Amino acid sequence: MIKFLPEENYFFSSLINDENYFSGFSAKILGDGRKIETLIRFFSQENINFLKIIIPEQIHSANVALVPQQKDDYQIEKIEEVDGLITNKARVLLIVRTADCLPIIYVEKEKGVVAISHNGWRGTIKKISKNIVEKMISLGADKKKIKVAIGPGIGSCCYKIDEDRYFQFKTEFDGYSEKIFVYRGSWYLNLALLNYLLLLDWGIKKENIDFFPFCTFCDKKRFFSFRRDKGKKEYGEMFSFIIKY
Ligand SMILES: [Zn+2]
Repeated sequence: MIKFLPEENYFFSSLINDENYFSGFSAKILGDGRKIETLIRFFSQENINFLKIIIPEQIHSANVALVPQQKDDYQIEKIEEVDGLITNKARVLLIVRTADCLPIIYVEKEKGVVAISHNGWRGTIKKISKNIVEKMISLGADKKKIKVAIGPGIGSCCYKIDEDRYFQFKTEFDGYSEKIFVYRGSWYLNLALLNYLLLLDWGIKKENIDFFPFCTFCDKKRFFSFRRDKGKKEYGEMFSFIIKY
């Protein structure tokens, strides 16, 4: 179940968080996740004892980086040309920043493998989550024990797509057409549902996937939205995170 802590202003999955794992999806009030000071302020307030913060460049790829635990002078490291991060090391904070695209958090607790990804429409077509699941398995994770939380993204109420993109998705994911598209004068796509169905396809158990009920575009109070606010002064991005202790 996705839960919200009103005093702390982040959402988290009860499938994932426990005494050994801390993860979440920030609400807008915590500030623009693109700014390093937003991240530092939040993790200091939460008393998170981390060695490093790792941030992927996010280029709408399906590239995933395996993050080692390094003790060097840099507290924050940006990894170029990737949209997903994975580690089995403790106290490494993995981050993605989104506003409409989906953030997805993964954990396999027995082997202690955690991961995060940025799934926009391009990353979804390129199947970034599949790359994450495969890399987790290569680190010893058992697919049947992987738990996943799909974070806040733009809903099918607001995610209007043009014909080109519709046909692109229809060609790639034809078996899901009846579930992922809505026609209301134009085509609308349910990106979160598609990602959920793909995770099931790749062997993640239904009861191990938490699904987010809100739309970033509709819920202006709690979320930034690229489509709603791009170019406006109030535009920002939420941050999503996972760390194991
Ligand atoms: Zn909406």
